[in-house]
Amino acid sequence: MQRFFRLRITGKLDADTLEVMKKPRCGVPDVAQFERTKGNPKWPNNHITYRIVNYTPDLHPSYVDNAIQKAFEVWSKVTPLTFEKLDTGTADIMMSFNFGDHGDNSPFDGPNGILAHAFQPGFGIGGDAHFDESELWTVQGRRGHNLFLVAAHELGHSLGLGHSEDPGALMYPTYAYTEPSRFKLHQDDINGIQSIYGKTYDEVQPTGPTTPTACDPRTTFDAVTNMRGEMLFFNGRHFWRKHPQLPNVELYFISLFWPSLPSEIDAAYESYEQDNVLLFKGDKYWVLNGYEIAHGSPKSIYQLGFPRTVKRIDAAFSDTEYGKTYFFVGNKYWRFDEFKQQMERGYPKRIAQDFRGVGPRVDAALNHDGYVYFFQGPKLIQFDMNSKRVVGNNQRSNSFLNC
Ligand code: ZN
Ligand code: CA
Ligand code: ZN
Repeated sequence: MQRFFRLRITGKLDADTLEVMKKPRCGVPDVAQFERTKGNPKWPNNHITYRIVNYTPDLHPSYVDNAIQKAFEVWSKVTPLTFEKLDTGTADIMMSFNFGDHGDNSPFDGPNGILAHAFQPGFGIGGDAHFDESELWTVQGRRGHNLFLVAAHELGHSLGLGHSEDPGALMYPTYAYTEPSRFKLHQDDINGIQSIYGKTYDEVQPTGPTTPTACDPRTTFDAVTNMRGEMLFFNGRHFWRKHPQLPNVELYFISLFWPSLPSEIDAAYESYEQDNVLLFKGDKYWVLNGYEIAHGSPKSIYQLGFPRTVKRIDAAFSDTEYGKTYFFVGNKYWRFDEFKQQMERGYPKRIAQDFRGVGPRVDAALNHDGYVYFFQGPKLIQFDMNSKRVVGNNQRSNSFLNC
């Protein structure tokens, strides 16, 4: 379990493990290394029937029908499979909402925790999907749990997929909210289901988003920051977490840690004076105390003293020695006093003037071991603040990630 979630492998339950275990998750117990269920079970025909045996009182039945139909379409769009809804009799996939012990030796646990489970293809209970009626089932917004998202995941099991280790995949075992209208089946899920049932008959084969790999030489970063001795590297919907004492870099889904944070963070920095981390996106910023989002987030960047012409920050780092934070916007930079908590006079200045060899635009910046590191696409620039010059520029952006 710990290895699966890429946490510290201690054999004991530490705070991190407990944190992930608290995340709402799927109740299919076996955490497989591979994406297919053991023994490669599959349905013998490409035409599969389903029946919604009972309905949750949380939603109008038409919303349930619609969410379930959409969940089946996730899988029929990328395979030759077709699904038919039956209203009576026995279907291949029987779907129901159940409380607690419901007769299959896998009792539900009340609100949160396990949300649902499903059985691999086969006779009888095979393929069936059960949803915990103790949950609040919803079809939009972050409230409760989204029936479409959970059903799409469970149907992956009903069709023969196990859990994926890829944190971006639908078949990752913990629930992560995505706006259903913006949901895209991940490439890892497409590869998994197509390894069982083959590709679609469509001329143009569907593709899905992929999870970035740390050591891809093209890997770039949206934002980089220190955080209480660790380093966080943001990329799209994900971030890598590097602990100085650990050999491995861990990749996480941003929404797994912080469901209310957006993806594609613009900039991030750690304020030692305030003991917090600020994450920027557009004209807003979020404050993290440790791994908790502070009350009152997000706030407006204009409260920090930026003029209204600034719509987003490209990069930021804090010079801990002097308590000064540098913000990079286009070819200019601002300086903020962490002690006085105000923007300094005389800014913005041009990056080219005080950071020769850097820019004009930077993706991310990090203060580390007495140097400032600027991330520009796949290029990393090491800058010495004392001599005010570039001291290294032939490393790659991902060289921090043990590549
Ligand atoms: Zn699952
Ligand atoms: Ca539950
Ligand atoms: Zn069950």
